[in-house]
Amino acid sequence: MADQPEGEASPHLSIETELVLAGRDPQRFDGFVNVPIVRGSTVLSPTVADLEGHTGRYSYGRRGNPTVEGLETALTRIEGGAGVVLTPSGLSAVSVALLSVLEAGDHLLMVDSAYQPTRRVCDEVLRRAGVETTYYDPLVGADIAALIRPNTRAIYMETPGSQSFEMQDVPAIVAAAAERGLVTLIDNTWATPLFFRPHDFGVDISIQAGTKYISGHSDLNLGTISANARTYRRLRLTHGDLGITVAPEDAFLGARGLRTLAVRLARHQESALTVARWLSQRPEVLRVLHPALPEHPGHAIWQRDFKGASGLFSFILQPAPKAAVDAFLDSLDLFGLGYSWGGFESLAIPFDCSDYRSATSWEPGGPAVRLNIGLEDPADLIADLERGLAVLAAHSAAQDPLL
Ligand SMILES: *Cc1c(COP(=O)(O)O)cnc(C)c1O
Repeated sequence: MADQPEGEASPHLSIETELVLAGRDPQRFDGFVNVPIVRGSTVLSPTVADLEGHTGRYSYGRRGNPTVEGLETALTRIEGGAGVVLTPSGLSAVSVALLSVLEAGDHLLMVDSAYQPTRRVCDEVLRRAGVETTYYDPLVGADIAALIRPNTRAIYMETPGSQSFEMQDVPAIVAAAAERGLVTLIDNTWATPLFFRPHDFGVDISIQAGTKYISGHSDLNLGTISANARTYRRLRLTHGDLGITVAPEDAFLGARGLRTLAVRLARHQESALTVARWLSQRPEVLRVLHPALPEHPGHAIWQRDFKGASGLFSFILQPAPKAAVDAFLDSLDLFGLGYSWGGFESLAIPFDCSDYRSATSWEPGGPAVRLNIGLEDPADLIADLERGLAVLAAHSAAQDPLL
């Protein structure tokens, strides 16, 4: 990868403009607007001197590819760090980022609300590599200092939690980490750098499951890791040493998604808030977990640090039998039942964090449901939910003679 890739826009442009311009170079590709999909492993050199002197821009497919580099360049502009590497999935971005920071004997502080498979990276892969993990309460704030040990090397955050939606006090945690020289990492998939720019808050490494909003079309698994000057070199070396590559087709789809990210997110934000506000007025709903709603416990942090909210949130139903909740979800026409999120289509899943929490307890007071609000008309989504809630009520009444 070139140190200063071409196609860089000037530094004062807004992020929306960067999304359109960054990482493209029509002059270099005969006027074609997008960086083409370049497939290839072998790269030829004209002479032995060029081969041995590495005079070419590329040397080998695994070590650099124009399509992949185009997306890395674009993301570097948008994240505002020193550089970005791509991985084949969001989870591999998590594991590569952690492996670039940690070594045997180190101790890691991991947020208890982290994406569940991230916990297995800690409990299995890192444990076998001699790294010990302590899970911490997402609401710990500055008190994280009390959990830091002599061998603590890094603090990992994810805010909001992508099921339970706790907001973390990133500035307080970064300040505690800075005092001890610790590396900070964050899974920023929910906000994307449009709504929260981790490097602006002093976070060293910013991870996204590009699978979600960068793709936006549920047709791609992709991971992105952005590092600041302090952590980039070791990240790039670790990524290279592990032999991680991303297919040029996938990088192309990622870049294609990036061009429309701002307009999609604006719509996801607006529609999700419309649905969340509607749900919060419903008698069947105990609570809505959406940080942009004033009643959310993390609302003040969200308002202080974030520029927007994306399309994923959860809500807690009034206590109801599982069969009634299942009937509600089964009855939805516009919400698919499926994992992942960030795509154009709405999704719903039931979830229960108590299956895996270890530092905190999860007692929401009723069945929990997570919604991904897609790009459909929110009025249609609300009508679908309204029909579903009627099914829920009918089932609850049938099952419980007291209701
Ligand atoms: C989906 C997700 C990931 C993992 O992305 P994959 O591409 O599925 O590996 C990581 N973090 C969060 C918050 C996610 O939602």
